[in-house]
Amino acid sequence: MATHRIGVIPGDGIGPEVVAQGLRVLQAAAAADGFGLECEQLPWGCGYYLQHGCMMPEDALEQLRVFDAIYLGGVGLPGRVPEELSVRGVVFAIRFGFDQYANVRPVRPLPGAPFPLRHVDPATVDFVVVREATEGLYVGQGGRYAAGTPEFERWQPLRPACARSREIATQIGLYTEHGCRRVMEYAFDLARRRNGRRLVTSCTKPNALNYGMGLWDGVFAEVAAEYPEVEHEWMHADALAMRFVTQPQHFDVVVAPNLFGDLITDVSAALLGGLGMAPGGNIAPGGLSMFEPPHGTAPDIAGRGVANPIAAVLTAALMLRELGEEAGAQRIEAATAALVADGQTLTPDIGGRASTEEVGNSLAKLVLHS
Ligand code: NAD
Ligand code: MN
Repeated sequence: MATHRIGVIPGDGIGPEVVAQGLRVLQAAAAADGFGLECEQLPWGCGYYLQHGCMMPEDALEQLRVFDAIYLGGVGLPGRVPEELSVRGVVFAIRFGFDQYANVRPVRPLPGAPFPLRHVDPATVDFVVVREATEGLYVGQGGRYAAGTPEFERWQPLRPACARSREIATQIGLYTEHGCRRVMEYAFDLARRRNGRRLVTSCTKPNALNYGMGLWDGVFAEVAAEYPEVEHEWMHADALAMRFVTQPQHFDVVVAPNLFGDLITDVSAALLGGLGMAPGGNIAPGGLSMFEPPHGTAPDIAGRGVANPIAAVLTAALMLRELGEEAGAQRIEAATAALVADGQTLTPDIGGRASTEEVGNSLAKLVLHS
């Protein structure tokens, strides 16, 4: 019997609430499919920060190295811990630390889930966004410069607004040839093995981000040429965001740089019924991957027991698939589809009155008895 070791970081806000249900459903799948799970909880995040002054212990990455996968809820306690510390201190530290470059976000609306478009049949929508997760504008480089400093003086002649500012800031995006290539190859490989349209759409914006997207577009042309059996196209990020609304059935696999990918995947989450329904994984092919629902810690509903655990549960299914437990993954996905189609046990965000725990409980039962 295979046993998988999972490092669990419940995090803050609704993180622990939804992760508890995800783990319950995972254990049900393990029992039904005959594999083992050893889950170890790691209490890192904003609560840890308020006690210890850091988001994770210094040797956190070393501690994580022993696991087969990481399962994370969400991190962030706005108002109590500075936003620039919290998510970077855990989520980015792990993504960057283990080079988890492919952030994968499948978009396949479930029958019965709220679907916001009147002019589209949800059954025709089935695509995956692959977001680059280690580079771009999220590398944390740049600076804030007060009037009078050399960097400020350098900008002064370029923009009249400098003259009326006490401070300026720059944010640098990093794009490497290898970083672009590997995530694009991941996208093309995915398009080749999925039973979709075999189309990879590159989300780009070379007119505005002349250097970064210039490199990105050139590498995309090279990678596309290596996959003649897969179609490819370039689409400006803004036009693509609109197309997710006007014609989402057009897409098969979308590959996007970090910031654009972050934005467009919250748009595509709306096609699933909202952030409470959208799963995601940060894949380090051949390495240690982290699975986290793309939603945050939802401070507006935290502690009330109403968070939708489906995003976290479907995220757990993605984790099982990556661990080689395809049957378990399908079992969880089928149970979720059945629960949503039935419509009796849903949380308020998708029109129901059930609690987080009731949804998790029903899903675990469906998984066990499927
Ligand atoms: P959010 O995703 O937490 O919430 C946005 C909206 O979606 C809220 O109205 C919330 O109630 C709703 N929502 C989200 N998940 C839900 C669920 N499972 N069920 C029902 N409703 C749900 O985003 P935000 O408000 O922009 O950020 C809140 C905090 O989370 C911030 O500190 C932010 O930095 C952090 N955050 C963390 C991650 C991460 O850890 N990977 C990702 C995004 C945001
Ligand atoms: Mn996001």
